[in-house]
Amino acid sequence: MSSDYDIVIIGGGLSGGSLALALQDTGYSVAVVEAVTDEQRHSSPAARRALALSYGTVNLLRSLGIWEGVAEKSSAIRDIHVSDRGHFAKARLSAEKEGVDALGYVITAGGLEDHISDILESSPIERICPARLMGFSAGPESVCLTLRRGEEDLTPVTRLLVGADGVQSSVRRFLNIGLETRDYRQTAIVTVIRPEVDPLGMAFERFTSTGPLAVLPMVDGCCSVVWTQAAEEAERIMALDDQKFRTRLQDAFGFRLGKLELESVRVQFPLELVRAETMIGPRSVLVGNAAHQLHPVAGQGFNLGIRDIALLAEMIIDDAGQCRDPGAPRLIEAYAEARRTDHEAVIRFTDGVVRVFSNDWLPAVGARGLGLLFLDHCSMAKHWLTRHAMGLGGRVPRIGSRPE
Ligand SMILES: Cc1cc2nc3c(=O)[nH]c(=O)nc-3n(C[C@H](O)[C@H](O)[C@H](O)COP(=O)(O)OP(=O)(O)OC[C@H]3O[C@@H](n4cnc5c(N)ncnc54)[C@H](O)[C@@H]3O)c2cc1C
Repeated sequence: MSSDYDIVIIGGGLSGGSLALALQDTGYSVAVVEAVTDEQRHSSPAARRALALSYGTVNLLRSLGIWEGVAEKSSAIRDIHVSDRGHFAKARLSAEKEGVDALGYVITAGGLEDHISDILESSPIERICPARLMGFSAGPESVCLTLRRGEEDLTPVTRLLVGADGVQSSVRRFLNIGLETRDYRQTAIVTVIRPEVDPLGMAFERFTSTGPLAVLPMVDGCCSVVWTQAAEEAERIMALDDQKFRTRLQDAFGFRLGKLELESVRVQFPLELVRAETMIGPRSVLVGNAAHQLHPVAGQGFNLGIRDIALLAEMIIDDAGQCRDPGAPRLIEAYAEARRTDHEAVIRFTDGVVRVFSNDWLPAVGARGLGLLFLDHCSMAKHWLTRHAMGLGGRVPRIGSRPE
């Protein structure tokens, strides 16, 4: 059966956009279907969240030709300072000790999404936007889609359907894929501050009795704050006026960076672990948040998602010379199998950090204090953790042909 596209990607966010760019020189016809316009996404409060991208992720974005255009909007993380509020223990990871320029980089999600959209616009990839997936039926050779664009229904046929449509994925729902979920009953409060003292590339992860507080260096001496709180407490904090909020934040973070001034409004994100029971269906695969949404405590969400994309692109490209069928069952089964270990390790690690570092139970407080002391004094453990924080802990897929 002939098809309109070799590959259709539902969702043109960070995952869908990056995958499309990874596939643009393969000779396959690729379309990206995105529900919201660039303007709508740009003005959404979610676009303000800052992403800490690991060294490995930035290398992958660089090899896709994405990083060069946004590098100047990012800030390098040269050190990570981990501490426990009210306790002596702390640990520090350093780029210099690892012999690299940066452990990672911080950029706003909106800045990266806008840039990916701009590159897609001038690429051979077809963008169908704004349009929404309404349903599909998968046969042995192809998938017939129904898309709604305004008043019009489109019915393209493809050989591979990719669900890059985020945590509420409709591709996943239409495939009847079950979910493992854990509602953390926590909310992340995100804002931007200007500290009195320039953090000079230092990122802070501070564990408090009510939840972790991340302060990430941004361009122009500002910092992005991701402050996790129990859901009810977050409601109370969100209701505070700016002055009371500032005082509360200063109290939680301390005066390492002097006085903190607020630079933006607050945005909140309810936190839930969501994992698809399988990443594949007939001639279809899931990538990024459609397959796994994590707690942001360890900043691993997109860092994990980009490895889905890199591996899927690598497998499609490697296979192209043989049968030129990107939706071949053996290919998508191999993709799901190859991603299992990384997903399990990152989900287990992130979930463990949330449990140990979000409570005031005395043994947990003692254990994390000892853990931080051990980490700070054991160079091997520090090196191991730093390599993982840099996204270099396991096999890193290779994509694109641009030099790093
Ligand atoms: C507070 C917070 C802090 C975070 N910090 C970090 C961090 O420091 N580091 C990190 O790596 N990650 C971080 N993350 C996670 C990161 O934001 C996500 O992993 C990433 O945005 C997932 O991208 P995605 O493209 O898979 O999904 P999404 O960003 O959800 O994109 C999905 C896209 O699909 C579109 N779509 C949905 N349904 C349809 C449909 N039916 N038809 C067509 N289009 C559709 C949507 O409009 C959207 O554009 C953080 C998340 C939060 C909430």
